[in-house]
Amino acid sequence: MSDKAPSTGRETEAANSTPGDPQLCALCPKLCRFACPIAAGTADEGATPTAMMDSYHQARAGQIPWEVAAENLAKCTGCEACRAPCEYDQDVPKLLYMARAEAWEKGAIHDGSRALHETYLAHGNPFEMDPREILLEQARDGDFQRKGRVLYWPGCRVLAEEPATVGATMDLLRSLGADHVSLPGRDDTPVCCGAPLRVIGDRTGFEATAAGLKQFFNRQRTWVTPSSACLGAVRTGYPEAGVLVNAEVLHVSEFLLFFRDRLAELGKQAMETMEQQDRPIPTLYVHDSCGLHRRLGRGDPVHDVVEAVTGQRPVRLAPSADESTCCGAGDFHDLRRPEAAREVARWSQRHSSVSKEAWLITGDTTCVGALKRATPTPQVHDLVGFLVRWLGFLDAP
Ligand code: SF4
Ligand code: SF4
Repeated sequence: MSDKAPSTGRETEAANSTPGDPQLCALCPKLCRFACPIAAGTADEGATPTAMMDSYHQARAGQIPWEVAAENLAKCTGCEACRAPCEYDQDVPKLLYMARAEAWEKGAIHDGSRALHETYLAHGNPFEMDPREILLEQARDGDFQRKGRVLYWPGCRVLAEEPATVGATMDLLRSLGADHVSLPGRDDTPVCCGAPLRVIGDRTGFEATAAGLKQFFNRQRTWVTPSSACLGAVRTGYPEAGVLVNAEVLHVSEFLLFFRDRLAELGKQAMETMEQQDRPIPTLYVHDSCGLHRRLGRGDPVHDVVEAVTGQRPVRLAPSADESTCCGAGDFHDLRRPEAAREVARWSQRHSSVSKEAWLITGDTTCVGALKRATPTPQVHDLVGFLVRWLGFLDAP
């Protein structure tokens, strides 16, 4: 794209290449204890950064088996809620990636991570699905352009959990004027960027995946995704693995803002249709995902897109974006530790003001399933899922 992407000016994960010192956490009087959704939501003292890094140090010193440390090191959603109360600006998720990679090299792997890895090896993604089959079913020939200038990377979670939105998303993008957008090739390209491998500590697997995808990604000028997991992996994980992607890497909200006027036009038409049909206009809430807001500093464009299409600023679910609570699914925690993830989701939404009639929008496809299970409204959508339904490209569920 020739225009510069809107920036929130908080590129925390990208800018901070030094994650900190695990020793500081191990010796800390748990300043972040009450910010951590896992420690609070599951009442597990082993989930604090202090406990996790302490077990890491003990394993390195040979005082406990690496298997014991690996169990503890898995207890994190990567939400970065611990960063605000921290006096040392520790990047706990990145410290844990490093610690898990070391445990992995010793052959110590948390059970849930091992199960995820086995699924990944069998299917090429962490879900038990065939992505190519889904792309064949849900998209049309014209959605795959070998020379498209923009690659729309839905992420494997969308293909597994919201497959019906894929074709509708391409219709939406075309109606905005973005007719140069392509889905990943369905014949020859993996549709998982390797993000789960980075999280669980399979450094070699992640590096091989990144190296394998580099050439394909560099064919396009712009790479767009609705997933903070994919965005974080390609934006920060690939460079850390020595893989440089030249394409401009954007969250879908940033890309959509290039079409702000057309969004407003389509939004106005949708509102007129709703009024003609006497349909009530629901209150719209936006959930600020930890992955997008805290880790990547890219949360505000989500609000801007919703405002562009509805004419109104949506209601923020948390008092402020920084106070947003984790849904429990970040860093594939819902796949690695499903029961703990459900408890975290219930805990994080315990004071939610969202009614059954309201719509809840999250900028991150990671969070949709967890929020659906924890909030009373059935209308929980990621940003693109919201747009395709609000604008009539797909019936609301
Ligand atoms: S993240 Fe900061 S506050 Fe939390 S344990 Fe580590 S050093 Fe202490
Ligand atoms: S990143 Fe989130 S889940 Fe992980 S230790 Fe920090 S607050 Fe807890």
